[in-house]
Amino acid sequence: MNFFHYVKDELHCEEVPVREIAEKVGTPFYLYSHATLSRHIQRFRQAFAEVPHLVCFSAKANSNLAVLKVFIANGAGIDIVSGGELFRARKAGCDPQKIVYSGVGKTDREIREALAADILMFNVESEQELEKIDAVAGSMGKKARIAIRVNPDVDPQTHPYISTGMKKAKFGINIKQSLDQYRKAAALPNIEVVGVDCHIGSQLTKLSPFTDAIAKIRELVRALQNEGFAIRYLDLGGGLGITYADETPPDFEEYAKAVIDATRDLGVTLVFEPGRVLVGNAGILVCRVLYTKKGEAKNFVITDAAMNDLARPSLYGSYHGIIAVDKSITETLTADVVGPICESGDFLAQEREIPAFRPGDLVAVTSAGAYGFTMSSNYNSRPRVPEIMVKDQEILTVRQRESLEDLIHGETIPENL
Ligand SMILES: *Cc1c(COP(=O)(O)O)cnc(C)c1O
Repeated sequence: MNFFHYVKDELHCEEVPVREIAEKVGTPFYLYSHATLSRHIQRFRQAFAEVPHLVCFSAKANSNLAVLKVFIANGAGIDIVSGGELFRARKAGCDPQKIVYSGVGKTDREIREALAADILMFNVESEQELEKIDAVAGSMGKKARIAIRVNPDVDPQTHPYISTGMKKAKFGINIKQSLDQYRKAAALPNIEVVGVDCHIGSQLTKLSPFTDAIAKIRELVRALQNEGFAIRYLDLGGGLGITYADETPPDFEEYAKAVIDATRDLGVTLVFEPGRVLVGNAGILVCRVLYTKKGEAKNFVITDAAMNDLARPSLYGSYHGIIAVDKSITETLTADVVGPICESGDFLAQEREIPAFRPGDLVAVTSAGAYGFTMSSNYNSRPRVPEIMVKDQEILTVRQRESLEDLIHGETIPENL
């Protein structure tokens, strides 16, 4: 459910015509619907209302301060994977007691900053990390709350790059070794074990990988409880998928029912780290057609947005809808939608039947709210595009377009060159 829709032939974000925003801010730009973001977080939390829970939005999906703020204002915390995301979460006003910290490569400095901020817990991904956190906490006279990220070895049936809970993945500690790791953790002086964590992958469109993982993790939670560990949090990560094309992922209520049924008797607070499912369909990338050309083998529609603005198609071969902002274009053509970057991998869609766009037409790339702007770069010295949020018919610039000066920020030409 989202609030991008046509009124007559004109694409609107909530009550505002997308064309009007494009005229105001120029193209390309990311566009987020506030009503969609708040509806998603409210419905997600509502689905778990009957059990103790904490929803920590996964900042890497969309770390814009205003987006984080919408979730924080609706009672959510933040799942971070770097010191940079800790900085963002705090700037957006997140209660540190609602911050969980995941990731396989936390540095000393990042650990220190998270301890100084007094975050809720570290999701620990290796034995060495556990020892490091213990040492850093000891040097600060603090105790670090931790969960171990357990790798349950289940196949999430998603793209290999975003599948994280199988034996061969770099993430977490194998569930078979995890009990031993918990015993080691309990013996460390500056560690307080408070939870169990897992995150098996992203863009999951079935319930079974989640329930398979929970079935394995339940055993561990029980074993830990029997050994006297006070397990307060069961963090089930994120991963719930969205509809990009014709996927039919479980809705929040189906997901919640399956999870609640499988965990109710454990006596823990459930923690979730949803990313994509909260923001993916709350955002689009709007761009303009520069040129069209008929190649010998293919048609091309060349837009002013490129792989540096939205990396997912070239990175994972991902599908994003390509729709007209003015739907009165009735003819179609089959074409590759490409950007100006000097790489053949620079495409937003390939061999796609799309409206017969002409130069100057506005194009909306749909489902671009997750892993869109956050994965963007300055490749080919292209300034990053602005992020716009519509709220109550207002057009809010939540990140301005980068300038040419921004491109060279921090660079110097040494005197002796
Ligand atoms: C990426 C990530 C998430 C969010 O995943 P989504 O599929 O966007 O919900 C949650 N937790 C961890 C540890 C992650 O790395």
